[in-house]
Order: sequence, then structure tokens, then C-alpha cells
Amino acid sequence: KADLVMVYHRLPYEEVVKDGQLIRRPPSSPNGILPTLLSFFAQGQQGSWVAWSVHDPRKDRAFEVHTTVDKERYANLVAARVALSKNDVDVFYKRFSKEAFWPTLHTFWERAIFREEDWAVFLKVNQLFAERTAAEAAEGAVVWLHDYNLWMVPAYLRPLRPDLTIAFFHHTYFPSADVFNVLPWRREIIGSLLQCDYIGFHIPRQSENFVDVIRGVAPVEVLSSQDCAPRFLTYGCAVGLDRMTRSVSVHGRHIGLGAHPVGLDIGRVKEVIDQPDCQAEMEKLREQLKGLRVVLSVERLDYTKGILAKMLAFEALLEAHPELVGKVSLLTICVPAAAEMTIYDTLLQQIEQAVGRINGRFSQVGWTPVHFFYRAFPFRDLIAYYLMADVMWITPLRDGLNLVAKEYVATQGLCEGSGVLVLSEFAGAAAELHGALLTNPHDPHDLRDTLYVGLTLGRADRESRIRSMFAIVQHNDIKRWGDEFLESVQDSRREGVEYL
Ligand code: UDP
Repeated sequence: KADLVMVYHRLPYEEVVKDGQLIRRPPSSPNGILPTLLSFFAQGQQGSWVAWSVHDPRKDRAFEVHTTVDKERYANLVAARVALSKNDVDVFYKRFSKEAFWPTLHTFWERAIFREEDWAVFLKVNQLFAERTAAEAAEGAVVWLHDYNLWMVPAYLRPLRPDLTIAFFHHTYFPSADVFNVLPWRREIIGSLLQCDYIGFHIPRQSENFVDVIRGVAPVEVLSSQDCAPRFLTYGCAVGLDRMTRSVSVHGRHIGLGAHPVGLDIGRVKEVIDQPDCQAEMEKLREQLKGLRVVLSVERLDYTKGILAKMLAFEALLEAHPELVGKVSLLTICVPAAAEMTIYDTLLQQIEQAVGRINGRFSQVGWTPVHFFYRAFPFRDLIAYYLMADVMWITPLRDGLNLVAKEYVATQGLCEGSGVLVLSEFAGAAAELHGALLTNPHDPHDLRDTLYVGLTLGRADRESRIRSMFAIVQHNDIKRWGDEFLESVQDSRREGVEYL
């Protein structure tokens, strides 16, 4: 039985069935959080990782719940698999979570599709996760649940195991009450989350939004609150806030709250920079991009990421500043959404049309204004692009955090670069990265003009901004994130006992 049970919807590796054999390989879509969560078990820590595994009892061989993750790297970590049919995964994850919850969480509620029959599948899957977790956890263990896909797990888990400390971390944005309350199942979801002992978000704004949401469902007594740490910007930014609630009591239950923006494994970034393959990629790019100013954009294909607005703003920049024609290129790395997610098809068409139009209007022999790469790059190549970019242009309309922003800062900082980060003030990372040029992606003029400022900033200013941001990213790294989160969970448990 495990003292720490990590409950994440996906396994830390990918499973494929080939010739009746179950084969595992590294995840095909990039996911920054997997290595992060695995790192807690890297020093031989004992634990269990609960995740789904697709199983067809008619075709597959007998299902084994337990398997190792990676005997060499994580000697005492066991994967505990929840058997789901392909249809359950499609409905629970690809359809319902992405069509009902994702848009609402990111304040695009008018895009949300609510189906009662999908909610039933969501409940069933969450119950299976809760039962598996209850079976894995040692007496008094800490269970760490991740993200909105598992919102209903606490409701099923608490009655099974009152002894557990249940902690929940939200990896996405968490909207204000007037948006969240659009969800038909808001009472059930909040009722479930209130069974947790501790709930973490990236930044204070998201945590405060959560407190407002609870207020609409149940009487809340605020037990403690504090000024936001200077680490979080408190003004000049859409996600800024001055004070945050640290613990509440609802129906006599004590729940701790905290802001824990995910950090980076700086050592891993450094390792990748030093790899000969990465150096070779940098040399190649340096040669190909000689004499050009490079603006880089990296994100998944998603309407929350503001890709189309960015393309239009780049077009407007070339119109407003003809002196930049032939001198500046926008490199856009756009990671395709998972297969079968057709909700992104129209967006892709709109982006491709915009890229085609801009290139048709402005291209010259030997110069292409927009390079649109519609594929995932290995981290090694991404780092080479980060290093080459004069401006990193990250413009989500709404984003929980944005790891790409931190990766850019880390790469530039480690190589003593002087690149500029232009960052949407609606990204969680904007509350933390003092030194970024903040931009409002909902305002086309601001998008265009802030990019221009980024392209024309003096060297001393650029250097001091990247240095100050690198210090933040280096200090608040992934280890600190995990340690502080788990410490806060333990503190909250103690405070909860005192409160009783
Ligand atoms: N990423 C990658 N290859 C790509 C594009 C992105 O490995 O071609 C990684 C990137 O390094 C980052 C993650 O995908 O760690 C994206 O995380 P972020 O928080 O920026 O956005 P999310 O996709 O989680 O909303």
C-alpha cells in the first residue's frame, strides 16, 4: 500500500496493443506535467500512480491492474490501472471533459456542450478511479488528485476512506462564479471538492474565484487569509490580486487553499541545451535564420490559445511598419489536438487561411513572413527555437499558467540571452513573471503594438528583464512546487485538526 497516491487521468507512458502484445512507449503528445509528477518518485520514493488503461475484455488478454512504471528510474513506483472501454475514454475525456468543462473553465462557456448522458459516464469513471485509489492507499496516506477530469473522485473516495488526506491540484484556469455557475452540475462538483483537505491552484486569482464559487453553493466561513506574496504581481495584470483566502470552513469541514504555480526542472533544460543534437539544431537554425529577427509562438491548437488573433495582429504589424517587411519572421509551432477531436477543425482552417493570406500578401524571394509548423516538436528542438527567438510571443486568451513562457525564460537565462517575453496578461504565468511585456490578446491594437515594443526594446532593458525573470523561474522550480504543495497539505491537515 502506498503513502503517496498520484491520481492522474493518464499513465506516465503510452500503451499500444501490437499483435496482441501490450507495448509501452513515451507519450506521443507533449505533456510537461508528466515528468514533473514522476520526479517525486525519482529518489526511490514509494508510491502508486492511478490512471486509466483501455481494456476490451472480449479481445485483450487478462487485465493486470498493477505494473511497474520504470524499474530503473522509479524503483518503488507502481502503476495501478483502471480498466476503461475505449468508448468510456472517448466520452469521459475526449468528448465530455473537452466539450463541457474545458470551455467553461476557460470562460468560453458559450462553446460548452452539456449532455446528461455524458455526465453519467463521467460519474462512473470517477467512481472507478476512487475505488482503485481507496484500494491503493495505506492508512492515513496522502492522495494527490489532478485536474478537472477527476472532479468527482473526492465524493466517492471520502466515504470509502475517511482516514485519507485528499489533496487536489487544478492545472487549468479556474473561472469566476458567474462563469462556473453555468455548469449544470456545479453543486455536485463543488460538493465533491469540499471533501478535499487541500486544494491548490496556480495563482491567487484562481483560488479566490473558487472561494466565490463555493459561496454560491454553501455558507463559507473564511478561517484565514493573507496578503499575496510579492512573488505574485498585484496590479497591472488581468490575473493580479492583493489578498487571498488560505483556509475556509464549510459545513464544519476545514479546507486549505493555496497558490502554487508549477515550476520547471531547470536541470533538465540545461541537460537538453548541452546535448550535441540540440547544439546541432541551434547551429542549423542560426544559419537558416541569419540576419532575421525571429518572433516565436508555441502552443497546442486550441481556441483558448489565441492563435488566430495573433496571426491577424502580425499582419497588422507588417501593415503598420513596412520597415519590418523582409526583416522579421513569425515562427509558429502549433501542436495538433489529439486525434478524433474534430472541434478544432474550423479553427485550424481559419489559421491556415490567415497564414496563406499573410504569406501571399507580404512574401519576398528569400523571406517568408509566417512559418506555420503544424506538428509537435521534440523538447530538444523546441529548446533550440527558444534560444533563437528574439521575441517569444505568447498570447492565450485565457490560460491556467503557461509552461512555454517559463521554458523560454529558462533557456534564455541559462545561455545568457537577451530575448524578450511578450506574454498575455490572461495567462497565469503573468502573475509571476515580472519582467515580461504584458499584452491584452483581446485587443488587436495592443497585441500589435506590444509586439512592436518587444522588437524595438534596447539591449540593456532586455537583459535586465530576462535576468530578473530567470531568477524567479530558477528559484521557483519544480522541486519547490512539489515540496511546497505537499508541505501545505500537511500544514493544512494539522490546522484542520486544531480547528476541530
Ligand atoms: N511542447 C513540446 N513540443 C511542442 C510544443 C510544446 O514538447 O512542439 C511542450 C512544452 O515544452 C510545454 C508543454 O508542451 O512543456 C505545453 O505546456 P503549456 O503549459 O505551455 O500549455 P498546455 O498545452 O499545457 O496548455
